[in-house]
Amino acid sequence: MRAVIYTRVSSDPNNLGRSVEEQEADCRAVCEREGWQVVRVFSDNDRSASRYAKKERPEYQALRAFLEAGKADVLVMWEGSRAQRDLEAYLSLRKLCQAQGIGYSYSGRLYDLSRTDDRFTTGLDALLAEREADLTRDRVLRAVRANAAAGKPHGRLLYGYRRIYGDGGQFVAQVIHEEHAEVIREAAKRVASGEACYSIAEDFNRRGIPTPRGGKQGWSLSQIGRMLQNPGYIGKRVHLGKIVGDADWPAILDPETYAVCRSILTDPRRKTQRDTTVRHLLSGAAVCDVCGSRMRVQKNRTHYAYLCSARFCVSVKTTVLEQFVVAVLVARLSRPDALDLLAPPADRGVVEQARQEAKQKRARLEEWYAAAARDEITPAGLASIERTLLAEIEDAERRAEHVDVPPLVRDLVGPGVEQRWERLTIGQQREVVSLLLDLRVGKTYQGARSLDPRRLGNSRWRGDSQTWAERGLV
Ligand SMILES: [Zn+2]
Repeated sequence: MRAVIYTRVSSDPNNLGRSVEEQEADCRAVCEREGWQVVRVFSDNDRSASRYAKKERPEYQALRAFLEAGKADVLVMWEGSRAQRDLEAYLSLRKLCQAQGIGYSYSGRLYDLSRTDDRFTTGLDALLAEREADLTRDRVLRAVRANAAAGKPHGRLLYGYRRIYGDGGQFVAQVIHEEHAEVIREAAKRVASGEACYSIAEDFNRRGIPTPRGGKQGWSLSQIGRMLQNPGYIGKRVHLGKIVGDADWPAILDPETYAVCRSILTDPRRKTQRDTTVRHLLSGAAVCDVCGSRMRVQKNRTHYAYLCSARFCVSVKTTVLEQFVVAVLVARLSRPDALDLLAPPADRGVVEQARQEAKQKRARLEEWYAAAARDEITPAGLASIERTLLAEIEDAERRAEHVDVPPLVRDLVGPGVEQRWERLTIGQQREVVSLLLDLRVGKTYQGARSLDPRRLGNSRWRGDSQTWAERGLV
């Protein structure tokens, strides 16, 4: 008998089936045992036969033509699902074999499709294969979702790590980005030794260390705090805010340092006891307009005052400066165009464009995930597309964020700013100040008893080219 062998390997990453070469060897063994002569081998590699696959299988079509031409007496496959996982395809192939009187062999057994029993058995196998294809599809979808949730290749890359991709573009591993990891380790060490997040953030900004998102706004104290409480850095996976197990990436922080940081950062007394710098709204934010140094709080005989920390050029009572700045801030945030503060109108078009770009690319990526779930694209292809798109999305999101309004500020604007401002913690208030203000304090004018607003004339809203004096604000 003339035998034709058909082998196929699907792109299912969970498929633990045999390679086409192994399938062919098995089929050849069957042919040898049965004394059949192998006249032709058809092989589809990396293709799916499920009804979710739209790709044509060229060898499968050639096989059908070969059988139709009456060039073989028996079709040999490794298992029933190698030929089709779709009932319609099964019926059509069965009809063909039946019409041509061709034997149908898989899993080492020969079926005669003119016999009722054999038609039943092969039909049942086809049904089971179709069910398996459905399950595979569900499994792939689940894997995509699980990976996304686990911060594996589908999720946003955690700062401090980079991803390695294989030659085929498939995800291989998430490894430590040494330069970024050093930033995390240093911050953890300093927090663990009692330094305030605020002073670390300030130091990072002074040294020009880029933030995780690469934005121009620089490090903030809350950013440092959030970063050091991320269980990802001790190699734990988090899903919906809970640790769900060990991650498959190496830890950056040792568990002891992490635990110390966490207990410090979550300590409710932190703001008053450990972190004395955050008791004052403007310490570190206000700059001496004479020499450019930061202003620190100093206790006089009678009161606290902000004082130029380097040369003591200027000084102003804390309560006086704070009241004035808060009044200006609240007035500005109460205005209908408050949101233009951080995103000047000219830049908003660019921001909106970047945001749209990120959104469209996210949607495109979602389509690719869906295509992968339908088996229309190989996992390697998906990984390659994903890598390109994710990089582009992150870039667009960064551009959209550059002058984006932070949620903290966005939630403040509108009627009732003052009440909302009062409800913020001192840490949040400080963050708003550092986001919005470039505060400069000048020398005292002759004879001024209270704060002369003109002393703040060189201050400006961040991102604004004009000073408060030029805007007629003071
Ligand atoms: Zn000074």
